[in-house]
Amino acid sequence: MGGAVYFPPLSRHSGFPMSALPACPNCHSEYTYEDGGLFICPECAHEWSAQASAPAEAEVRVHRDSAGNVLQDGDTVTVIKDLKLKGSAGTIKMGTKVKNIRLVDGDHDIDCKIDGFGAMSLKSEFVRKV
Ligand SMILES: [Zn+2]
Repeated sequence: MGGAVYFPPLSRHSGFPMSALPACPNCHSEYTYEDGGLFICPECAHEWSAQASAPAEAEVRVHRDSAGNVLQDGDTVTVIKDLKLKGSAGTIKMGTKVKNIRLVDGDHDIDCKIDGFGAMSLKSEFVRKV
């Protein structure tokens, strides 16, 4: 006599849930969870940022001038074309020397001071290393 064959429903709680969460960098516990952009380890109470676990290479940015030379903090560059300033502050003339640049992230990736103009931001594509 064939009775009904019982198929159990797929278990929704077979042990710990499968997840791509990283193990705790502090105690290597695998039972970490995410909360508001932070990873939290219930075993040692360690918390760390989800962003910090992203590949570090994405943060490394090489700044190059118009000729492809690598720029570094403290370099001196010249402006390779007339740059009109926003508003009526004037124009930075081609050939203007800019000393002691500071590289930053952003569309305008050079912070500097230019005589007669003061502090401003330039694009690396409009300068050439001296
Ligand atoms: Zn831990």
